[in-house]
Amino acid sequence: MSERATVDAFSVAADTPSKIRFHITGAVLNGTVLLAGLVCLFATWQKNQPSCPWLLLALLAGVYAADLVSGLLHWAFDTWFDEDITFLRRMVLQVREHHVFPNRIFHISFLHDAGTLSWISLILTAPVVLGVMLFGAGPAGGSVILATAIFSVLLVSMLAFHKCGHRARQPLWIRLLQRSGLLLSVHHHSQHHLGNHDYNYCIINGWADRTLGRLGLFRGLEWVISRLSGAQPQRNDHEWLRRFRRKVVGRRTA
Ligand SMILES: [Zn+2]
Ligand SMILES: [Zn+2]
Repeated sequence: MSERATVDAFSVAADTPSKIRFHITGAVLNGTVLLAGLVCLFATWQKNQPSCPWLLLALLAGVYAADLVSGLLHWAFDTWFDEDITFLRRMVLQVREHHVFPNRIFHISFLHDAGTLSWISLILTAPVVLGVMLFGAGPAGGSVILATAIFSVLLVSMLAFHKCGHRARQPLWIRLLQRSGLLLSVHHHSQHHLGNHDYNYCIINGWADRTLGRLGLFRGLEWVISRLSGAQPQRNDHEWLRRFRRKVVGRRTA
């Protein structure tokens, strides 16, 4: 299939007005929950002001959780889903095209991804924020809301971080953040694309790849899911590679 054909496949899956309304609804609901949590945090700041260690912990936990969820989402799309799932079709096409033509990422609209990711953020954060607002969480309540807010903002902005992992030329401050390990580096993310798309899934900064990933999180989850469902990991991704005459190499063990 030619590159032109993938563009056609992608445009077939372009968003309809109802899907755009769906994305906007997700963004508004997620923003509302986030705002409610932050208002609650600042309204009770005098009474429940988190101490410096709790603030630092909230920051690290929010960043780590966002990186981990970015990796789990990327892994799920690379490993298990295919374009025949109507609800996920556009996202799967986007991910497959990105493997075959990595620079296509710069054609993807931030707003589209932010809309879809807002729903995922809403599902994960709303129970936490509403739980803290309704029942409190003692002295840690403020830190939990702060960590949740950091998590949500980073997760919804995932595409911007992913693009940093592809840009050959970056401003100095981005390169410094990448060198310090605080932001996804081109070197870290290139190992996902140069191999068989089964390594370095995380796209915020790679912290979860270097910890849980190296400990075998993704291979362990695949083993469990394969045993339970009989499904073959990366079946659809390998089909796409063969369709474009790209080499399918052996899978990494961790
Ligand atoms: Zn990429
Ligand atoms: Zn991938």
